[in-house]
Amino acid sequence: MGISVPERSKVRVVNPQGHQVVDLWAFVKSSSTEYLSMAHNRTAHYTTRFQAGDVLVSNRFMPVLRFVKDTTDGFHDSFHAACSAQSYAFFGDSQQSPNCEDNLRIMLEDAGIDFLITPPPWNLFEKSFVNKDGSLCDGATSARAGDFVELIAECELFMAFSACRSTIGNIQNGEPGGAEVWLEE
Ligand SMILES: [Zn+2]
Repeated sequence: MGISVPERSKVRVVNPQGHQVVDLWAFVKSSSTEYLSMAHNRTAHYTTRFQAGDVLVSNRFMPVLRFVKDTTDGFHDSFHAACSAQSYAFFGDSQQSPNCEDNLRIMLEDAGIDFLITPPPWNLFEKSFVNKDGSLCDGATSARAGDFVELIAECELFMAFSACRSTIGNIQNGEPGGAEVWLEE
């Protein structure tokens, strides 16, 4: 799902049944090269896991999204790339479900937005953490039915959401149950 989000609008991403990781992207409407960047947010906030109260920034360190509410236990992955035909091939997985990168490409095409890369998304409800030795670990999502996050746009955005179907790492903790997105202008 892709939506235009006016500045100051509130976006709520709901996990209706739990068991769903949602890839989120935000593109700045006024620029064809500015977007929500996980690397810049890890740098800006000195954390790998952003919390309600944080103002998330773009690849130019400009405010993009204010993270205002989170009913989960706080796990939203900032490390993983979107699943794609290439990622499934890389991991030797024969999964044929629509992948998040293709979903994003279709959403951008439908919106008439020319964007040439797939920024690593913010993976809502995905439980990842870093071990002491630096290795990265995935756990099954701990999101419960009805959990949600709320964000306020700090500028005019195009936002894209993909309910991930990946089975690699059992991140969904069961059959993915889909997602809902609410926009309050
Ligand atoms: Zn995916």
